[in-house]
Order: sequence, then C-alpha cells, then structure tokens
Amino acid sequence: MDLYEYQARDLFAAHGVPVPPGAVANSPEEAKAAAERIGSQVVVKAQVKVGGRGKAGGVKLAKTPQEAQETAETILGLDIKGHVVRRVMVAQASQINEEYYVSFLLDRSNRTFLAMASAEGGVEIEVLAVERPEALAKVPIDAIAGVGKGKAVEILTAAKFPAEVIDEAADVVVKLWETFVSEDATLVEVNPLVRDPHDRIIALDGKVTLDENAAFRQPGHAGLVDEEAENPLEAKAKAKDLNYVKLDGQVGIIGNGAGLVMSTLDVVAYAGEKHGGVKPANFLDIGGGASAAVMAAGLDVILGDADVKSVFVNVFGGITACDAVANGIVEALQILGDSATKPLVVRLDGNNVVEGRAILAEANHPLITVVDTMDNAADKAAELAAAGV
Ligand code: GDP
Ligand code: MN
Repeated sequence: MDLYEYQARDLFAAHGVPVPPGAVANSPEEAKAAAERIGSQVVVKAQVKVGGRGKAGGVKLAKTPQEAQETAETILGLDIKGHVVRRVMVAQASQINEEYYVSFLLDRSNRTFLAMASAEGGVEIEVLAVERPEALAKVPIDAIAGVGKGKAVEILTAAKFPAEVIDEAADVVVKLWETFVSEDATLVEVNPLVRDPHDRIIALDGKVTLDENAAFRQPGHAGLVDEEAENPLEAKAKAKDLNYVKLDGQVGIIGNGAGLVMSTLDVVAYAGEKHGGVKPANFLDIGGGASAAVMAAGLDVILGDADVKSVFVNVFGGITACDAVANGIVEALQILGDSATKPLVVRLDGNNVVEGRAILAEANHPLITVVDTMDNAADKAAELAAAGV
C-alpha cells in the first residue's frame, strides 16, 4: 500500500525524522486555518499518490493565510497524471540551501535491502540514475545488521554528501531505517532531503510503501487505507477475503492457484489479440481448496464488474477435485440466480476431471460452455467477450 505524503510525514515524525510542521486540509478554508496556525510562510502541496507534483503545479508557496486559501483553491481538483487532488498538505515553508536524495527499498532481484542516496536530490531520481549513475550511491543493507550510525555515514559518504552535514544527516538516515523496519515498509524515500541555512537536515517530501503482508502485526496501518480512492470491486473482494486485482479488460478470470491465474491472464491477453484486442478484466485466485461458497463469492465480484463481458473459469483439480469444483460452479450459479447474466467458459482438468465434466454436462446450464484445453477456452472466452462488447 502506497501512502500519501502527509501519512508518510506522520510516520516520519513518529520515528523522530525531522519534518516541517503542517496539517492536511480538505478545503481552501481548512488550508487557510492551517496556515494561520503555522503562522509563517507555508507551502501548499497536492496529496496524490504520484511523483512530479511540483512540475505539475501541485506544490506552491504562499506568504499569507489568505494566499494559502487561494493557492489551495487552484490545487484542489487539479488532475495530476490521472490523479484528482482531493486534499492538500499545508506545511511550514523551508528555506533550502541544498537538496539531497535518500531511500531504502526491498531489492528483490538481489534478495536484500538497498540504500540509495545522492547529494544531487530534488530532481527525478530515475533521470539521475540514467544520466549520471555515478552520482547515485547504491549500498546493500544486511537485514540483520541493519543501519546504524556507521553504516549511515558510509552511505552518505558514498553519495558524496558535504562533509559538514554528514553527521547530522546520518542521524536522520538511521531514523529513516528505523521507520522502514518498524513499519514493515518496502520503500521509504525522501526527495528532497534538504539542508536549510542553519545546516539543519529536514525531510521535505516522503514516499512510503507498506508491506500489506505485515498487516496482521501492524494494526495501526488499517487506518491508513484511503477507502474513497479504493476500487469498489477490490474493496468488495477484500471484504470476502478474495485475492482479487481489478484490471482494465473485458474477460473476467477465476482460477485456483496464483501461478495458474497468472498464466491464464497471459493466454487470454494473447487470444484477445485475435478478437478485437479484448483483455483480462481481473486477477482472481480462489485458492486450492475453494468451496462452492467461495466460487459464488468470486463470481459475484466478477459479475458485478460492468466491464466484464464473459468469464473464464480455469480450474486445475488438485486437493479440491474437479467434481467438487463443478458442483461449486453449478451451486454458485444457483446462489446468484438472475444476477448471473454473462457467459461462462469453464476449463476443468486434473483430479476427477471426467466426473467434473459430467456434472457440468448434466447441469446443462445455458450460460456455461465447457472447453477442454486452456488455449481453446481462452479463445472462446475472448470471442464471447468481443461479441458482448
Ligand atoms: P514532488 O514534485 O511531487 O516530488 O514534490 P516535492 O515535495 O518534492 O516538491 C517539489 C519541489 O518543490 C522540491 O524539490 C522543492 O524544490 C520545492 N519545495 C517543496 N517544499 C518546499 C518548501 O518548503 N520551500 C521551498 N523553498 N521549496 C519547496
Ligand atoms: Mn519530491
């Protein structure tokens, strides 16, 4: 889960990372009130989960509370790379002498954590990494040893931070690492980390991604979910404990096992090329031991997606054999009744496949087409989706 800047800032503050005082505002009036409380020049910042807000006109200085209100008026409602601004953060404006970059992230390809830092922050780090890779230090972090003061100094020295700020900046880096570990983050990024005229080091912008797999031991994180911005189908699926991700195609997908579902997405996308470019509408893994109730819950979510024109049920019978799955599909359609309206292409294989197919043949449901192979089923589902579009 990606956080908004103001949420990242709150986490930083809780872990002792220096941040400017500020508050989040939902309206121009609230922005004015926040600027009055801060009592000095402020910066009004669009809260959207996308970078480059500054360049898009989403970060502006305001000298007076009145000006903060007017600035908030222009920023609220802005569309920044497809994200509409619903909230701004009003923060005390900082004076900036230098801008740096610091991040910690999970480095999957090297199976470790990685620190990245540069004395040339403020700019887009992807651009810096391509144009001046030597200016971006990358230091692997041992998960057990972590980042103490010595490691932090090593990172900042490699990043060519000015010698006179390294000591103070290293303290901040240690606290950022503590934030990364104790919040179960997979990314903590500060760009820019600034040096002010008094040589104080302040985190001016924060990007944090939390590991949702750690939710069970992070009860506080549930409150960070932005339910308004969440996709309603994903929210419905989450409430039913389904492993569902909304995509932008027309063929609804249900399978058992994440690997099977991922390859189903591929074969459907491939088959769709021959049928007007239809694509998978979602990822949904109902797991190995799925009951009829789970199948019904999954179908219910998928059929609730207005973009879906056909559904591909791709099941490999294992622990739950094909006959149980076939009964599950038939029962699910009974449970859903009239709300099931879109054609279903079912491919069953594996344990008890003969019995499973016999059950579907006997049910003879008008919405179900049984196809024996995965490729042919994908093709049929894509064809039906294209016809329904
Ligand atoms: P981003 O564009 O989405 O990364 O948003 P940032 O929060 O990083 O802000 C973009 C740029 O605005 C920063 O790199 C700064 O140069 C500038 N900026 C942000 N906050 C302040 C501030 O308090 N004072 C000044 N002078 N500039 C700021
Ligand atoms: Mn930034």
